[in-house]
Amino acid sequence: MKKLTLIFTAIIILILSACAPSQNKEGESFFAMDTYMQAEVYGDRQTVNDIKAEIERLDKKLSSVNPESEIYKLNKSGSLELDGESAELIKRSVELCGFTDGNLDITVYPVVEKWGFIDKNYKIPTQSELDSLLKNVDYKKITVNGDTAVVPNGMKLDLGAVAKGYAADKSRGILSKSGVKSAILNLGGTVLAYGKKPNGENWKVGITDPENNENYMGVLECADKTVVTSGNYERYFESGGKRYCHIINPKTGCPADNGVTSVTVISPDGTKNDALSTALFVMGAQNASEFIKNKCGDMDFIILTADKKAYITKGIEDSFSLKNSEYEITVV
Ligand code: ADP
Ligand code: MG
Repeated sequence: MKKLTLIFTAIIILILSACAPSQNKEGESFFAMDTYMQAEVYGDRQTVNDIKAEIERLDKKLSSVNPESEIYKLNKSGSLELDGESAELIKRSVELCGFTDGNLDITVYPVVEKWGFIDKNYKIPTQSELDSLLKNVDYKKITVNGDTAVVPNGMKLDLGAVAKGYAADKSRGILSKSGVKSAILNLGGTVLAYGKKPNGENWKVGITDPENNENYMGVLECADKTVVTSGNYERYFESGGKRYCHIINPKTGCPADNGVTSVTVISPDGTKNDALSTALFVMGAQNASEFIKNKCGDMDFIILTADKKAYITKGIEDSFSLKNSEYEITVV
């Protein structure tokens, strides 16, 4: 009798596993938001297609360089009634600029352009060029009434510092509606680790070594998190032996130059992570550590500096491991 029950149970398990949704890896690589992206979704091809379509939609809508985008049209006309989504994202971004004391400033775009980071015709602007552009850098002057946004004359808005994080949040929305349990997206330095791996283990996210960006300096184990990195190796030029990176200090108009080589922010909120990865990069390791302690108790960070220090938060002490032992970890 016992044997019969065992056989019966085995058959039921077999049937159940045959009915379980397949866990095939469905992948796609594509170019959007000026970077290469990869999506790996377990068990559902349609969801990969939906995510790709969603990111392409956002790229078209939020780009500062595409003449078809709402942001481009807003910058051109100075005042525009947007759809609710863009209006909300601008409002949220302005709030995040305030939250970071203006170290994130979505109106820094004319300065970014002047350094050549948009058309890749890099040059070092003169101080008087910077001074005159900086008069028009101030997120507080952006207003959104209802769905109508106003960008004062001479100013330009750019959501490049938050768009990929927002795209990760929207992708997570698609994944949770789809019933998919496991997915990992890499939206060019913005990683969405959705659920766990199909085998139940945590995802392992490599943290790029800014000193050699083909290698990882460490690995973070996580589940259901967005891991956003801003690094000095993403877009930069060199002149006179000095590296000028694409993250600008909105107060000086110059590329951040404080020893930080990358900032990774970890939490479930992709948009906020993206905003903070840029802002903390501008602040520098010391100020960023203070800021984190005072204002971001529920978020985790990895800040790397040129002198091979890795400042990490307590929350990831056990889930972050070094791969490059030249780095020295300080828990902040
Ligand atoms: P990446 O796009 O490489 O992932 P970020 O999220 O840090 O990096 O965004 C950097 C982009 O945001 C730059 O390319 C530039 O267009 C814009 N930017 C640069 N500095 C700032 C800043 N301090 N505040 C807001 N946007 C910025
Ligand atoms: Mg960012």
